[in-house]
Amino acid sequence: MKRVCVYCGSAVGDDPAYRNAAEKLGSILAGSGIGLVYGGGRVGLMGVLADAALKAGGEVIGIIPGHLHAREIGHQGATRLIVVGSMHERKQKMFELADAFAILPGGFGTIEEAMEMITWRQLGLHDKPIFLIDAAGYWAPLIMLFDHVIARGFARPDSRDLFRVLKRVEDVPLALAASPPSHLAKPELL
Ligand code: AMP
Repeated sequence: MKRVCVYCGSAVGDDPAYRNAAEKLGSILAGSGIGLVYGGGRVGLMGVLADAALKAGGEVIGIIPGHLHAREIGHQGATRLIVVGSMHERKQKMFELADAFAILPGGFGTIEEAMEMITWRQLGLHDKPIFLIDAAGYWAPLIMLFDHVIARGFARPDSRDLFRVLKRVEDVPLALAASPPSHLAKPELL
């Protein structure tokens, strides 16, 4: 079974489009027989996403550090809730269990997690596809920043191939099936 790790906000944001995207992604993954790996919380888009996947009969694996269990309210309904000792362990475990990554709207934590997967792929530490889900244009400023970084010579132009921007969550299963390995990544370094 393929599993997608989804990074998203512990808040829902100010536009219902974000919540809709999380809900739709949860049910689409479940409906496509793709397991969900996520941060394990019940709050914000994380909770919306997990609830939708569970409602549609999908596998949901949540990974939460003990110290966040109370704040982000560990999802007791998850197929598996793995409690780990630190943020680093959480990120490592999420990485290991996933065949691909999808990034929904979110805050600093979401950006941090997404950047780590993008930079690890840039370094050739993995070659798992990364989908930036640009719901309601939320990630446009970040994409502009990436283009600026490339234009100013701090990343190679083909760094844009490290991740794919998807406007619609419906495109995730097809994009996952069609993802070619990145020519930037060097999986032999794994
Ligand atoms: P946010 O996007 O800020 O709402 O956070 C989304 C998720 O990322 C939450 O589960 C946070 O606990 C998590 N998070 C926040 N900071 C970090 C970090 N430095 N490394 C890994 N995860 C983080």
